[in-house]
Amino acid sequence: MYIYDSIQKTKRPFEPIRANEASIYVCGPTVYDDAHLGHARSSLAFDLLSRTLEAHGYSVTMAKNFTDIDDKIIKKVEQTGQTMEELTDFYIERYVEEMALLGVKRADIEPKATESLKAIEQMIQTLLDKDIAYLISTGDVYFDTSKDEAYGSISHRVSDDESQSRVAHTSQKRNPKDFALWKACKGSEDICFDTAFSSGRPGWHIECSAMIEAHFEAKDGYSLDIHGGGADLLFPHHENEAAQSRCSTGHEVAKYWMHNGFVQIDGEKMSKSLGNSFFLKDALEMYDGEVLRYYLNGVHYRKDFNFSEADLQTSKKRLDKLYRLKKRISPTSASTVNQRI
Ligand SMILES: [Zn+2]
Repeated sequence: MYIYDSIQKTKRPFEPIRANEASIYVCGPTVYDDAHLGHARSSLAFDLLSRTLEAHGYSVTMAKNFTDIDDKIIKKVEQTGQTMEELTDFYIERYVEEMALLGVKRADIEPKATESLKAIEQMIQTLLDKDIAYLISTGDVYFDTSKDEAYGSISHRVSDDESQSRVAHTSQKRNPKDFALWKACKGSEDICFDTAFSSGRPGWHIECSAMIEAHFEAKDGYSLDIHGGGADLLFPHHENEAAQSRCSTGHEVAKYWMHNGFVQIDGEKMSKSLGNSFFLKDALEMYDGEVLRYYLNGVHYRKDFNFSEADLQTSKKRLDKLYRLKKRISPTSASTVNQRI
């Protein structure tokens, strides 16, 4: 079996770190809103991968996290007056229900950021002890990208004009590319957790590295066989994940990387700011989950997917046709035919 490695940009023979086993970690959703078609596509792509590996005799362990601490979550908590737990539990439940309707198997391990704080703190402390991370006077902790010689090897991007420097620019950063591992509490209304370095909350990237380290045992220099996610996560998220893991543990986070393509809606990249977001719940109101699964799996997972309702209708007709064919050739209908003969 071959896997297309999106870092090496080539198909490589799948040789797992443990014989006949396959460990997969896929970056899951930030649970502050309903799942959209991009979430559905990523889930379906890696569900198909997991089922394919199982069909080839591998014992698969799949992990998918829930990011349940985030600026967007905190903003929504402020808007709705709900607690963070009420809000995130609601959307986790919705996500699980909707993915089940698509026929996606639940992951074996579903860590939440709020339940992984010890592991996150430990990893940041390790990086601080090695002087690869540094604490600034506000209580924020940054990762010093200049300390990681392999930084840029995942996404092949080394530009420092990316979102991380835009979002987290501060004069106390050692390098523009450095990114936040820990964000200190901004005020009494903020949602904060106490650690040895400051009261605050984790940056998004560190969550995944810490969860992987907590749930998978490394072998032969890798924590995982396959790390997956949407192509939009390649930079900076996966670059930073890989850097944190490499520098804190001494081994690479994954032997193979896989990324699924974007979802566009009628030719435009799906983005909430464009107002053309298509929630999965809306699609599921009109179409059976199996129709959506058939439609979304109908395009190669690495290609960008252009969602259109006309194509979805066509997929429904094709699936109906397959069911009619199945009925015609099923053993019960065959026996009916024989009796008639
Ligand atoms: Zn991640």
